This record gives sequence, structure tokens and C-alpha cells, in this order.
Amino acid sequence: ASPLDREQMQGLRGIREFLKVRTSYDVLPLSFRLIVLDNDLLIKKSLNILIQNGIVSAPLWDSRNSTFAGLLTSTDYINVIQYYWQFPEEIHQVDQFRLSSLRDIEKAIGALPLETVSVHPMRPLYEACRRMLKTRARRIPLIDIDDETKRQTVVSVITQYRILKFIAVNNEKHTVLLRKSVKDIDLGTYSNLATATMNSSVLDVIHLMVRHNISAVPILDRENHVLNVFEAVDVIPCIKGGAYDELAATVGEALSRRADDFGGIYTCGMEDRLDSIFDTIRKSRVHRLIVVDDESRLKGIISLSDILKYVLLFGEEDDSIRAV
Ligand code: ADP
Repeated sequence: ASPLDREQMQGLRGIREFLKVRTSYDVLPLSFRLIVLDNDLLIKKSLNILIQNGIVSAPLWDSRNSTFAGLLTSTDYINVIQYYWQFPEEIHQVDQFRLSSLRDIEKAIGALPLETVSVHPMRPLYEACRRMLKTRARRIPLIDIDDETKRQTVVSVITQYRILKFIAVNNEKHTVLLRKSVKDIDLGTYSNLATATMNSSVLDVIHLMVRHNISAVPILDRENHVLNVFEAVDVIPCIKGGAYDELAATVGEALSRRADDFGGIYTCGMEDRLDSIFDTIRKSRVHRLIVVDDESRLKGIISLSDILKYVLLFGEEDDSIRAV
């Protein structure tokens, strides 16, 4: 192996060790707010609460049994939309659905139920990462259990972004060793990319995301220049107030509804190195990187899970784990 390879491996091992000696709890800021939604809430109302609070996900609480009832994410709304389009005659019922009906909706449309994984906040962060990769979850709830009463408490939710940012901020001595390029390590996806245009309908893009099990679709012009990225969370403002008919609108119209504080999209080139990607993660709220050529034409996509997977699993002996 070249010195570059050796240092890369040294950096990766350093990060893995770090993740094993830190807990999920360590990732949390000193003070934060947590919005937990009651499972009995109408789905329609939950949308407004998310929008008003500027969040895209929330843990659900079953107050009858005092238990954690799963995580509400944009995937749930996408399921409701699919349900609506499969059973349009039930529009009035759709309006009356509560968050507790989400699992039934999943079943009705034949969606694979998402496994509700959680971790204890004091377990090693490495474990939370492995569990996220295994279940393909983009976020994981931290659930504490009282020793005596056995009662659950939702402590917080950590996302892949938060974990990568935690690595970037606290591990510069290891991330600087990651000097191999995106191309060298084959980071991301470069074939069968799901893309759309500004004139595609929101509904078409939703179907595309469901079919590919992805949460973002690059929006291209005729020459494959990247104009924008439509994200699963962009459907939330589209269906505010139960306006499911508006999904026939174009992507262009939908994107104009983004909040003013939208962070923008991030791009990189094939020659960019992983250390510089960690710099970007350290400085900005990145959800994925769109890989482009010198003329801004689409080459590929690097999701946060691609990065997390590489950081945790590259060069590990146990191949069975890599396959998950
Ligand atoms: P995201 O949340 O951005 O969809 P995931 O981590 O769920 O990311 O992505 C799963 C896999 O799909 C990743 O390997 C990623 O590179 C790939 N991927 C993401 N977006 C697309 C797309 N639009 N077309 C094809 N593959 C994609």
C-alpha cells in the first residue's frame, strides 16, 4: 500500500476508535429542545406543527401506554400521498387519519414497514452508526429506560449529519489523513441516477423516490446541468392543509415554496478529497453532495450514508457486515 493508503487507513481507524469511546449522548448539544408528537394527533395537524417549528421529523409518543411509538419522517407523508392516490375515493378519511394510523397506511399501500430502531444514549456512538447503516435509517431516536419503573424517555434524535459533523469537529487530526479523492475511493453512486426536470410533476418525483428508495432527486436541464435537488422533505410544504391535489404541480413550483432559510445544495468534483468533504460538513449543514464536472453537469451523488458507510466499514474484515 502507498503512504497515501496507509494514512487513509490510519485516519479511518482513528475515527472508528473515537466512535467507540464516545456515546450518542456526547453528540447532543448542552441544551436543545425536543418536540414529541402525540400519536393521537391528526396527520394533517402534524404537518403544521413541523412547518411552524422548522423541523422535518419528530418522535411519536403513545400516551395511553406511555411508550415511544416510532419516528415521524417525510417518508410517512409520502406514504399518505401514495395512499391517497391509490384510494382517491377515501379523501375524507385521509383527512381524519391520526399519526397512529400510519402503520395501517403502510400496510395498505404495501410499503415495507420501517423498523423502529432506537439506541440507548449511553451506548457507544459506533453502535448507533452501525444500527443506522443496517436499517438504512437516516436518523435514530435515543431512548432511555428508567431502571426502576421501566418507563421510556425519548431523549433526542440523532441524524447521520449530526454524527458526521461531530466527527468533523472533534477529529480533525484523523480527518486530515483522508487525502484520497472521491474517485479513488469510489465514494457515492454514479450509475442509474434518478433525476427529473423542473417540469416534472411533484408526484412523478415522489414515485421516483419511492421506487429507488432515495430521498433526493437532482433536477437537471436538457444538457444535464444540475439546477437544483428535490428532497423528500420538500413534499411537506406541498401538502400543507391537506392539499394533495397540488402534487400535480411542477417541481419548479414546489421548489419556490421552500423556506427562506433553505441551506442550499452542495456540490463537489470527482477529484475532491474526503478531508475537504469533512471540511464542508464541519462548516455547513450538508444533506448530500452532488458530484458534478467542471461545467456543473451531473456525475453522481454522495449521500451521508455513503460517507458513514465508508468511514465505518471500508477495509473491515467482516464482509457480511458490508453487505447490509
Ligand atoms: P438519500 O437520503 O440522499 O437518498 P441514502 O443514503 O438513502 O441517501 O441513499 C441510498 C443510496 O442511494 C446511496 O448509495 C446514494 O448514493 C444513492 N442515491 C441517492 N440519491 C440517488 C439518486 N437520485 N439516484 C440514484 N441513486 C441515489
